[in-house]
Amino acid sequence: MTENIKDKVVVITGASSGLGEETARHLVASGAKVALGARRLDKLNALVAELGVENASAFEGDVTNREAVEAFVTDARAKWGKIDAMLHNAGVMPLAPLAMKRTDEWDRCIDVNLKGVLYGIGAVLPIMQEQGYGQNLFVSSVAGHVVNPVGAVYCATKFGVRAIAESLRQEVKGHGPLRTTILSPGAVDTELPGSVKAEGVHEAVVGLYDQYAIPASSFARSVIFALSQPAEVDINEILFRPTSQE
Ligand code: NDP
Repeated sequence: MTENIKDKVVVITGASSGLGEETARHLVASGAKVALGARRLDKLNALVAELGVENASAFEGDVTNREAVEAFVTDARAKWGKIDAMLHNAGVMPLAPLAMKRTDEWDRCIDVNLKGVLYGIGAVLPIMQEQGYGQNLFVSSVAGHVVNPVGAVYCATKFGVRAIAESLRQEVKGHGPLRTTILSPGAVDTELPGSVKAEGVHEAVVGLYDQYAIPASSFARSVIFALSQPAEVDINEILFRPTSQE
């Protein structure tokens, strides 16, 4: 059990793989309860079976659908009685040069990475304000700090996540212990490179991840650190990357 984490209820979007999945494991091992959301219900159900129904619940939904996000958060509160934190984690990374004009991917990236996060805030903030406490954790990236030539849209969404999070922090500070944390990882070994479809870029990204991506436990530990602080301490941002990443 980890101090200040035991019995906390944490809602996680994008919990069917990668960072969300691994964080759910670390949270339950630290004594928390987790409400898991994603589109692949089979993966969520397998994770609930692993973690135990007394510790985890699953909800199928697409974060680009506002009603689905509202239903997920409402279901989580009904099941667990409260929401201590929400990890706004679902995301895609369709890297490609703008000149390839992959407009469907531009739309998808903005819809999942930005609108999905806004819908999550819209769903959970009234609950946290009513409770008088809560912590929102956002997943930006090193790509939310520096741009690269194939990352125009992805970087824009991850810079945007940081802007939304910091604006939220300023909006809610002083209204009870409402905390805001930005997590900005570098390359972490997950399914994410699979969302890079552009020819040439996919191979390059997979090559870099094969070279130096670090385990998802690195991210999960940063979430545990931010969540385990006493109520008066707000860890605003954690930026980390593989030692050999630029
Ligand atoms: P994964 O591809 O392993 O996981 C992405 C998760 O998001 C999955 O659970 C997926 O679930 C979910 N997801 C994607 N689209 C939707 C959608 N429309 N509705 C609901 N859920 C969706 O990648 P990661 O774990 O690496 O990514 C998690 C976050 O971390 C992302 O925001 C990513 O940008 C960020 N990040 C990752 C880094 C890395 O190197 N891995 C580095 C920096 C940031 P499903 O398909 O079942 O819906």
